[in-house]
This record gives sequence, structure tokens and C-alpha cells, in this order.
Amino acid sequence: MSQFQANGDQLQLNGQPLSLVRQHAGQTPFYAYDRSVIHQKVRLLRQKLPAQLKFHYAVKANPMPAVIHFLAGLVDGLDVASGNELREALNTEMNGSHISFAGPGKQKAELTMAVGTQTTINVESFNELKLLKEISDELGVRARVAVRVNPDFELKSSGMKMGGGAQQFGVDAELAPSMLEKITEYGLHYRGLHIFTGSQNLNPESIITAHKGIFELANRLQDSAKSDIETLNIGGGLGIPYFPGEKPLPLEPIGESLEPLMQQFYSRWGNCKIAMELGRFLVGDCGIYVSEVIDIKHSRGTEFVVINGGLHHHLAASGNFGQVVRKNYPVAVGNKMSQSKDKAVQVVGPLCTPLDLLANKYELPKIDIGDLIVIYQSGAYGFTASPRDFLSHPQPVEILV
Ligand SMILES: *Cc1c(COP(=O)(O)O)cnc(C)c1O
Repeated sequence: MSQFQANGDQLQLNGQPLSLVRQHAGQTPFYAYDRSVIHQKVRLLRQKLPAQLKFHYAVKANPMPAVIHFLAGLVDGLDVASGNELREALNTEMNGSHISFAGPGKQKAELTMAVGTQTTINVESFNELKLLKEISDELGVRARVAVRVNPDFELKSSGMKMGGGAQQFGVDAELAPSMLEKITEYGLHYRGLHIFTGSQNLNPESIITAHKGIFELANRLQDSAKSDIETLNIGGGLGIPYFPGEKPLPLEPIGESLEPLMQQFYSRWGNCKIAMELGRFLVGDCGIYVSEVIDIKHSRGTEFVVINGGLHHHLAASGNFGQVVRKNYPVAVGNKMSQSKDKAVQVVGPLCTPLDLLANKYELPKIDIGDLIVIYQSGAYGFTASPRDFLSHPQPVEILV
């Protein structure tokens, strides 16, 4: 993968050979994240997208504390999806005024944390808004709220749809005006609007169309708001390539289309903060998942490479996290980078299920026991998005290099 180099046989992460990275981890399997790749992604966004656009890190993509703290020094805000994520976000140099909290089913204790710390709460329902009024009264602190809107259009070609049609996320665009009224009636602090349409999109045209829809909707809704808009969160959705044939998303056309949309919005509503919230795009390609070959078996003409990691650590790479058809993540032998391919093998984990398949008919150099199998594009929705207790195997560790 182009974000990493190799030195002879050794894959390199942030200038360190994999053999050294493995010593840092102290065991296999492990996840390793390269901070230079994260930094490069932030630089790319700032170069190619409008200068006034702010970037938030969506913590759930990779909530390893070291990663959150590193990103807190590079981005303009953090988005959290639970009270525990909020606590860690508050442990960084950011305070509540740079943090927003989204997600259906927020509980009273979580909302109380958010109100008390002046975190912006992206409200997902009328019940939640009422609870926020009660908490504000109890604490004597006005909740800072933004309306998460389920748009009246859909994002095409996104890997995971998060808006449009019937959704558990946000309030339907048609109901947003009455929520805006309620915010005024309850005396809460109106921050603005949050419109998130979908995730893992590699098609710039469909992202541009979504942005046009988002700004059109935001203009329409702000017309019926009683207070000024302070923040407009236009969601994220920028994808990264995982599978053969997928290419990195070109950012230039997205930036060119956003610039006039933002300028029109400012001219109409004054200088509010317009932010994009990104998880996968910021951290997805900084990460590798590394496990060790513990057995090599042959069955009726097929070679099975058995590793000490598997779907319990990396559900997405096994194809069981939202994929419709299983496809291979990019894989390499991290200690044989200069060796040519030998034959196609099955890379399988130690679980007692045929679903524990990490690479299907994948051409790799000749494998020996002890080799390090590297799965790329593993920095987002890996470690914490996997059923790590399934079969009670040892846990992987995470490091940031
Ligand atoms: C998960 C999530 C994100 C991040 O999505 P990515 O595809 O990882 O960029 C952004 N906003 C909200 C509200 C989310 O729930």
C-alpha cells in the first residue's frame, strides 16, 4: 500500500521496520497505527478543501486514547457517540465547546455529562430534547443543542446509509421546524444543524450532490429558526479504498463545489462554523493488523495459512461487518516485502467457523511458520468493532508509532 514503504524485506511504519514495531507491541496479534499517515491525511484535507472548513474527528472510528489525543492536536473538534468516548475526548486538550455528541438512545447520565461540560449535543428525538430540558433545569446550565436532521434525500453510492428515508438517526427534515420551536420554548442554547448522509463514499459526484442537498436543506431550516446558527455540521462520508479496483477519493472537485456553497451560507447567515466530521478517512489507512502464522495445512489442493488472529479481532477484514459480498482487504507478508508471489492461499484464523477467513485465494510469497501477515486499511472500525471475546482467545494490543 502506497502509504507505507518497505526496506528490503521489512515493511516500515513511520520509519521503523516491522520487526521493531512488533517488539514495541510485545506480542502478536497487534494493531499498529502510523501517526505520520494520520498527519498526512489532515494536511491533505486542509490543502484540498476550503480554508474555512473545520474538521472534526469522529472518535468511534478508532477510540484508542493515544490516537484521540494525537488527533486532538491536529483537528478542530471531536465528535463522540457515547459517554465513555466523551470522557476520553475531554481528557484531551479540547474542551466541551469543541466536542459534539451524536447517536440515538443517549442515556441520562451521558447527557448530564454533556450538558455539564457544555458539549454540543446533536439531538436525535423529541424525548431526548425534553430530557435535556430537565437536565438543564436540574443543573442550572443551558444545554447546547444542535438538531440532527434526517434529510429528505439520500446519499447515493455510500457504503453505509445514515440518512434519508426512515432512519433511527436524527429527526426527519419535515419535523425539524417544530423541534427548532421546542428548543426556543425550552430555553436551550441553539447551536445549529447536523446533517449526516452516509459513510464510505468513493464517488465525488455523489458527495457533491449530497453537499448541495445539505446546504439547501440547512438554508431552508435555518429560515424557520429563531436564533442565529453557530455551527453547521455537514457530516463526513469520505471513503478510503479497500478492495481491488477502488481508488482514493479525489478531494479537489469536492473542495471546488463546497467553496461557493459555504460562501453563500456565510453571506446569508453570518460567520458560523461549518464542519465536516470524519472517522474512516482520517484513520482508516494509518493502521495495520499483524498476526503470526502458526500452522500451514493442505487440504485437497488448497493451502491454508493459519494465523493467531482472526475475525474476533478484525471483523471487517473477514467481510462480516456490513459487506454484502465478501472481498479481500489488502494483505502482505510484512517480513517478506521484496519476495515475489508464490501461489494463492487461504489465510484463516483460529476460530471454529468457516467465517474466520481473512484472505480468500490471495497470492502471497511462500509462507513459513512465524511469518507476519499484515492486513492493511485497518485503522478504522477494527479493534473496537470486533467481537474480541468470541472463543476466548487472547486479546490483540494496539500501538501508535
Ligand atoms: C460514524 C459517524 C461518523 C464517521 O463516519 P466515517 O465513515 O468513519 O467517516 C460521522 N458522523 C456520525 C454522526 C457518525 O455516526
